[in-house]
Order: sequence, then C-alpha cells, then structure tokens
Amino acid sequence: MQTELVALLALQADDVVVYGLEARLAALDPRIQELDRRRQHLADAVARAAAAVEAEEKKQAYLRDKIAEHKQLIERNQAQMGAVKTMKQATAAAAQMEQAQQIVAGEESDLLALNRRLEEYRAAQQGLKGELAALETEQESARACVATERGEIAADLSLARAKRAEAAARVPVPLLSRYDRIRGRKRVEAVFPMHGMSCGNCDTAIPLQRRHVMTASAAIEMCEGCGVLMYYSPE
Ligand SMILES: [Zn+2]
Repeated sequence: MQTELVALLALQADDVVVYGLEARLAALDPRIQELDRRRQHLADAVARAAAAVEAEEKKQAYLRDKIAEHKQLIERNQAQMGAVKTMKQATAAAAQMEQAQQIVAGEESDLLALNRRLEEYRAAQQGLKGELAALETEQESARACVATERGEIAADLSLARAKRAEAAARVPVPLLSRYDRIRGRKRVEAVFPMHGMSCGNCDTAIPLQRRHVMTASAAIEMCEGCGVLMYYSPE
C-alpha cells in the first residue's frame, strides 16, 4: 500500500475515534437535561403549594381580624344595653345583637373550615418539599456519575485529538485538505476501499479508464457518485 494511503487511513481511524468520543460527550447533555427537568417539575409544585398556603394564611388573618372587630362591636352594644329607656329600644337592641352574634357564628365556622383547609395545604407543601429533597439526594449520585464520565471522556478526547494531529501531519497537505473538506460535510468516514468495480460507499460503478489508473498506480480518487475518496484494495 502507498505511504500516503496508509497515512490517510491512519488519520481516518483517529478521526473515527474522535467522532465517537464527541458523540458520547454530546449524549451526556440529555441526561443532565432530564435530571434538571424532573427536579424543576417538583420545584414548581413546591412553589405552587407555598403560594396556596400563603393565600389561605392571608384569608385566615383577614377573617380573624373581622371576627375580633365584630366581637368588639357586640361588647359595645352589650354595654349600651343598660342605657336603653323604652321597651321598643330594648327590643331593637336585642334584635341587633342577635344578628351580630349570628354573623360572628358564621364567620367562626368559616374560620374553622379555613383552618382545616390550611392544615391540608401545609401538609401537602411539606410532602412536596420532602419529595424534592429526596429527589435531589437521589440525583446527587446520577449527577456525580455524569460528571465523572464527562471528565473521563474529555481526557480521552484530548489524547485522541493530539493523536489525530500527529496523524494529520503525516498526510500530504493537498490530500489532507481534500479529506478534511469531505469529512466537513458531516461524514464520519471519507475514505473507502473500492468494492469490486464500484465505490465502497455508494456502489456507483467506476469507469473502466479510472479503474485502471487506480489499480495500476494506487491513486486515491474521488467518487463521482457520493464524493468520498476511494482507493484500490487488492484483497
Ligand atoms: Zn461513492
């Protein structure tokens, strides 16, 4: 085999290794994204639960103020009861008082229901917080695992890139630039052996004349069908 072909095939082997490592590195991103997505999902639920608790707490404070206010009013009315002069005034005052007490009773039953609801909301919030903490603990090892893998692949990748650079230096510049151009079009491999009388990549038949040149001189030619580099391989 011709020296430049040997050098080119060695370069391609190195490029395939680099490509594989880059693909493995890129494959780690979705794993991190999936961990983040699951965490965010729970964090959002915790935030929604906290907002619900806060809203109920505001209602609770408002209702408590109203009850205190209405009770004060009743006390004042009670104090004034002694001052009424006529039977008619006494009847009116008693009716007013009864009405006020009914209002307070209604508010107190609302407050009771609200307190129960608030307890449920707080329990739900605590439950979700617990789930989030558990998920974060659970994810710690998965995240550490990804980080370790990323570090290992990155180390392999820098070695593979250095090896690739050495291999590239052994390929004649014109051939190297042709090869790089073809590989740049997102092909993993750019060099293929002839397959019988056709291109080893796309199976396009090679004209007889060119085939002769290739077998006789071991020339590296470009396929007219798919644009890859082809070489003659005797076996
Ligand atoms: Zn082809």
